[in-house]
Amino acid sequence: MEQKTNIPLLAIVIPCYNEELVLNDSARQLNSVMEGLVKNKKVSSESFLYFVDDGSDDGTWDLIRKFHAENNKRYKGLKLSRNVGHQNALMAGLSSIQEKVDCTISVDADLQDDISVIESMVEEFSRGFDVVYGVRKKRETDTFLKKYTALFFYKLMSFFGADIVNNHADFRLLSQRVLGHLNSFKEVNLFIRAMIPLIGFKSTKVFYDRKERVAGVSKYSTRNMISFALDGVTSFSIAPLRYVTAVGFIIFTISLMISIWAFMLAILNISIPGWASTVLPIYFIGGIQLLSIGLLGEYLGKIYKEVKARPRYIKDIELF
Ligand code: UDP
Ligand code: MG
Repeated sequence: MEQKTNIPLLAIVIPCYNEELVLNDSARQLNSVMEGLVKNKKVSSESFLYFVDDGSDDGTWDLIRKFHAENNKRYKGLKLSRNVGHQNALMAGLSSIQEKVDCTISVDADLQDDISVIESMVEEFSRGFDVVYGVRKKRETDTFLKKYTALFFYKLMSFFGADIVNNHADFRLLSQRVLGHLNSFKEVNLFIRAMIPLIGFKSTKVFYDRKERVAGVSKYSTRNMISFALDGVTSFSIAPLRYVTAVGFIIFTISLMISIWAFMLAILNISIPGWASTVLPIYFIGGIQLLSIGLLGEYLGKIYKEVKARPRYIKDIELF
């Protein structure tokens, strides 16, 4: 058997926004997983938990400070200057520790994702995989609405050509070199789960059941979910623009044929003074035009944001 000479240094990155109700428990559970890995020599004893406080206005940061005070080797933290959203907070965490680790695992603070598969993730990494996706087996614990918006979202994404792993959220292992390449993506509209496949390298999946949130509330409202889905599509593919062009072309062709037909009817002197044939197309074309303009606006908005290239987050305090 091959003797492993260097044990990887793992950092578990946990974005937290107003998670004071769950954080104590989550930190304890994550730490015991970490202890197990260290004991079995699966990860180095220097491995740590990295909490990113995404501008919480409850006691989240106080808890992180408390953990750090208890064991500053195991618990580290980053406080952002304000709330920047899950994706940006996660990116802040990943890029801050990039040079200090061999691999990272990102996980939500509520531990809805089964952290007992962390061990298999690390094993896959040791086997040479650069990316290990955590994939949910089923979606029983989600609300009806969330389940179907999510399903619709995955279908929509793949239809429009953004390559994402089904039923995978942000629970994944990344190797250091993948982190490095992730950092070289300069886009402001972050949608990390669709960026990872673009980086490439060898990837694999581990499967788990997603649990219910033990305390606190979901920070994603339905409105957030819709905007997340829209962002996901328009950040990753320009296919919608092409579909609009195609629809425009088809409608143009049809209306051309109808015009010829109307012209012939007029020549034959059998034209009926039709209201519908005049008014309906106006609404129809009007609708299509508004839709297309809206879509263009969506992309224009993206370009606007990218061009400004504002910082994705601003660091306040680092506990290292
Ligand atoms: N989160 C964050 N910033 C935000 C919203 C959420 O860092 O603005 C974190 C949150 O603390 C949690 C993770 O992102 O660790 C996922 O959020 P949540 O559990 O509310 O989402 P859901 O599981 O309902 O999709
Ligand atoms: Mg959650």
